[in-house]
Amino acid sequence: MDITLLAAIAIVVVLLAVGGFFLVRTRRSVTPGKDGTGPEATGGTTTAPPEEDRERDDGTVATPPAHAPPAPAEPVEEPTAEPAPELETPPPSAGRMVRLRQRLARSQNSLGQGLLNLLSSDSLTEDTWEEIEDTLITADIGVTSATQIVENLRTRVKVLGTRGPDEVRGLLREELLAQIGGDTDRIVRTEPHGDRPAVIMVVGVNGTGKTTTTGKLARVLVGDGRSVVLGAADTFRAAATEQLQTWGGRVGAPVVSKEEGSDPASVAFDTVAHGTEEGADAVIIDTAGRLHTKTGLMDELGKVKRVVEKKSQVDEVLLVLDATTGQNGLRQARVFAEVVNITGIALTKLDGTAKGGIIVQVQRELGVPVKLVGLGEGPDDLAPFDPEVFVDALLTQE
Ligand code: GDP
Repeated sequence: MDITLLAAIAIVVVLLAVGGFFLVRTRRSVTPGKDGTGPEATGGTTTAPPEEDRERDDGTVATPPAHAPPAPAEPVEEPTAEPAPELETPPPSAGRMVRLRQRLARSQNSLGQGLLNLLSSDSLTEDTWEEIEDTLITADIGVTSATQIVENLRTRVKVLGTRGPDEVRGLLREELLAQIGGDTDRIVRTEPHGDRPAVIMVVGVNGTGKTTTTGKLARVLVGDGRSVVLGAADTFRAAATEQLQTWGGRVGAPVVSKEEGSDPASVAFDTVAHGTEEGADAVIIDTAGRLHTKTGLMDELGKVKRVVEKKSQVDEVLLVLDATTGQNGLRQARVFAEVVNITGIALTKLDGTAKGGIIVQVQRELGVPVKLVGLGEGPDDLAPFDPEVFVDALLTQE
């Protein structure tokens, strides 16, 4: 009896051992790493983090996790992983403003038509000239420029003698273009320097459309065939990082980020480093939308730029300004200009105001050109600024 019992126990033990061995083998075979190396290859059951997680540690956008496909012999199951989102192909920068001309005509046309009507009056009295000047000032063009335009128009109308609709339109077109700067260099410096990407910093007050403009600019560059790395240096706002990751994800632009409250300068530095390693054409750094009244925060913006400059020259510092904020926006612009050397202005929400004259005033105030204009909330509603298209839209007969 004892022997039989012992034999039975021995059989059970053997069966358990064999069963356990097969169980372990089966588990390991369904959890290979992304590169095909499972736990057996790494010599243990604690696997290294999947590659996408490691990328996240580096601060870059993680690709959706790839799961193991079902074994071919089994009935085919639907893969559980979300399919990778299809990358979008934004339109190139050329011709964007022409495409958006209708938006400009809609928002700015009342200014143009008002001026044309006044200039076509039967007799141009002192009162009419004053009204012309007031119309220009109301459109935020600034007193100096408004006075200059009126003076020039008065002289030229006198010399011209006749005032047919075409002549009047032609005169006004020339004067407005002269004030805006038809020949000004408005190129956004995005060309890489050998193996170093171009570095663009985007600055501005919260709510102006800074993060949106950073995302839209990435699309402009991708549309022009460039590779872009984005930097989420607005570490005060977790939402800004998420927002940027969404923009970047749509066009395949990696986003360098760190946890909320991290040092913005270190994010900016890492972005340039990552862009260089990746061989990207350009890096665009979104900075915190700091309140311009808080000296400490403004100083920090200066620090971000200095730290980036240890790694690379900064090619562009774009100040994002909300066209609807008028004088308040100009005050902000002045403070930013004191802290960083602004090289261009991205004027947003021009679709939402008739005060397009702000273009003239802000350029005069800061001595830097408007390079980009935002004409809507759509992803491709950011266009390189073209003064001729702008003035023509203003003077279009609706
Ligand atoms: P930030 O705080 O400066 O980063 O501002 P956001 O980028 O979050 O943008 C604030 C709001 O402005 C968002 O609702 C944007 O869609 C909107 N916005 C940005 N640019 C434009 C534009 O050119 N036109 C219009 N209509 N809205 C814009």
